[in-house]
Amino acid sequence: MTPLSLKRITRDLKNYTFVINENNIVNVQYKNYQVSFFLNEDYPFKPPFLYLDNKLLNYKYNYFPQRIFKLYIDNGHECPCCTNISCHGRWSPVFNVLNIVDEYNLIKTNMVRSYKKHITSFIKNLPDDVLGIIKEYI
Ligand SMILES: [Zn+2]
Repeated sequence: MTPLSLKRITRDLKNYTFVINENNIVNVQYKNYQVSFFLNEDYPFKPPFLYLDNKLLNYKYNYFPQRIFKLYIDNGHECPCCTNISCHGRWSPVFNVLNIVDEYNLIKTNMVRSYKKHITSFIKNLPDDVLGIIKEYI
């Protein structure tokens, strides 16, 4: 890391408890996530790869259940793997590492919303006796 990347990350995380270890791995608790990433010397000019609770954050189709991913796109959202703020041409130094987590949360919320919308529309069309059976299970 460089003095600039260190200075910048210190400012970005100033309201949170964080540690940077000798390998330049930053650990910060943010919105119920244990966020970890390697602080490289390009930060904030390039986004870091984030681990949320030790799982690499990515938007590839297999990261989310495929059905939910498809419903999300069908509901008019842009493909998150091609249009997230870490994508080439989208990232800018005005963003910080926490914006990546915020965006992830927003995408996740909208995916759940799309899924619920689908389930609700599906349930409405069922006959009452079938609905009764379903309600016994929920
Ligand atoms: Zn895509």
